Amino acid sequence: MAFDTVKDGLVVSMEYKLTADGEVLDSSDEAGPLQFLAGYGNIIPGLESEMTGMKIGESKNVTVQPADGYGEFDEEAFTDVPRSEFPADLKLEEGMELYVTDEDGNHQAAYVAEFDDQTVKLDFNHPLAGAVLEFYVKVIALREPTDDELDHGHVHEDGHRH
Ligand code: ZN
Repeated sequence: MAFDTVKDGLVVSMEYKLTADGEVLDSSDEAGPLQFLAGYGNIIPGLESEMTGMKIGESKNVTVQPADGYGEFDEEAFTDVPRSEFPADLKLEEGMELYVTDEDGNHQAAYVAEFDDQTVKLDFNHPLAGAVLEFYVKVIALREPTDDELDHGHVHEDGHRH
């Protein structure tokens, strides 16, 4: 059975370019084409909904508002943590990404907003929170997922399992 249209449950290969505030943040020119399993929340919702129904070879520019992208910037999403709670040999830098574990054991990405000897201010906003995202996307191939990929809800590139 041949597929020529993006729909949920198919693996989509695409060329893409992501721009925000006139700056190219990511593109398949550098990273190579991206593959994702459609319909499983593997890409941001504002882009996935626009790609549904695209044909192989078709390209499109898509503007994604923050609410459908990485969320609105939240002024409240900052937490001060004592420096002593971090490993003494951890070399902190502004903007570095850390994974912290909350009381419920959930891992969450945070970014170092600022720090001194006593206190580290963590920012829980995604780096692209509040940004209007401009995507160029081009569908280059479609295929059925393997059983494993369907089970996991994501693509296994290079044949690796996880
Ligand atoms: Zn997997």
